[in-house]
Amino acid sequence: MRLDVITIFPEYLAPLDLSLVGKARERGQLDVRVHDLRQWTHDRHHTVDDTPYGGGPGMVMKPEPWGEALDQLLDGARAEGRAEEPTLVVPTPSGAPFTQELAVELSGRPWLVFTPARYEGIDRRVVEEYASRLNVREVSIGDYVLAGGEAPVLVMVEAVARLLPGVLGNAESHRDDSFAPGAMERLLEGPVYTKPPSWRERDVPEVLLSGHHGRVARWRRDQALARTASHRPDLLAGIGSAELDRADREKLCELGWVESDGRFWPPGDRVEE
Ligand code: SAM
Repeated sequence: MRLDVITIFPEYLAPLDLSLVGKARERGQLDVRVHDLRQWTHDRHHTVDDTPYGGGPGMVMKPEPWGEALDQLLDGARAEGRAEEPTLVVPTPSGAPFTQELAVELSGRPWLVFTPARYEGIDRRVVEEYASRLNVREVSIGDYVLAGGEAPVLVMVEAVARLLPGVLGNAESHRDDSFAPGAMERLLEGPVYTKPPSWRERDVPEVLLSGHHGRVARWRRDQALARTASHRPDLLAGIGSAELDRADREKLCELGWVESDGRFWPPGDRVEE
């Protein structure tokens, strides 16, 4: 997979040399290219921002450097004989939420271009221009505002990279992750333990030492249900009974959830007639 990041702070992306992403780059599984947006400015001060039309506080990133940068990447790839177009990932707090589902989708793309902004963001016409010819995703990593999009890019690249074939040592590792597509789609992963079996008089749950795969799987599922019910009831709310097996339903009832009209509802929630 190829990843391009255009930023006014290339140094901010230094962590992409480390750990899992760094190793994937060394192995040639990821081709990461970080570009300084200011190389596409033409004035003495390498200006990338200007005052907002309509007034208001803060500055807005000028469209010209972004346009030149993106055109050069696209033209360069075409000249290299690259057939596919990139997906443009635009970090913004006003974007669609970045979810595991979106990470999975992006991990299937051959080429991603990230445009982390600063100031009040990028002149709107840039997104409009490229949305007319590329797949553009405006993405938020959460309901808070950061000073720039570089940290969101680090978040997204790590989430995507660990899904690429061969990047995680054990291909099964993300199967049981919170939010993993399939059985864990709406569940948070429960607690995990390692040696020693007893630490400061706290023991690892007996079932995990039993070697009984069926009981271990059931225990993990119960823990995931309990944790999700407690920390993120919104993920479970309204879950269809048909999506749950008998033991799941019993666990939710034990946690005070109510089954009504083929669905499960949190304790105290209004049950729809
Ligand atoms: N005025 C903008 C707003 O309220 O939507 C916030 C601009 S923010 C100070 C500057 C840049 O940081 C954004 O354009 C975006 O690239 C990045 N950014 C900040 N918070 C983000 C978030 N939660 N998710 C993704 N990107 C974010």
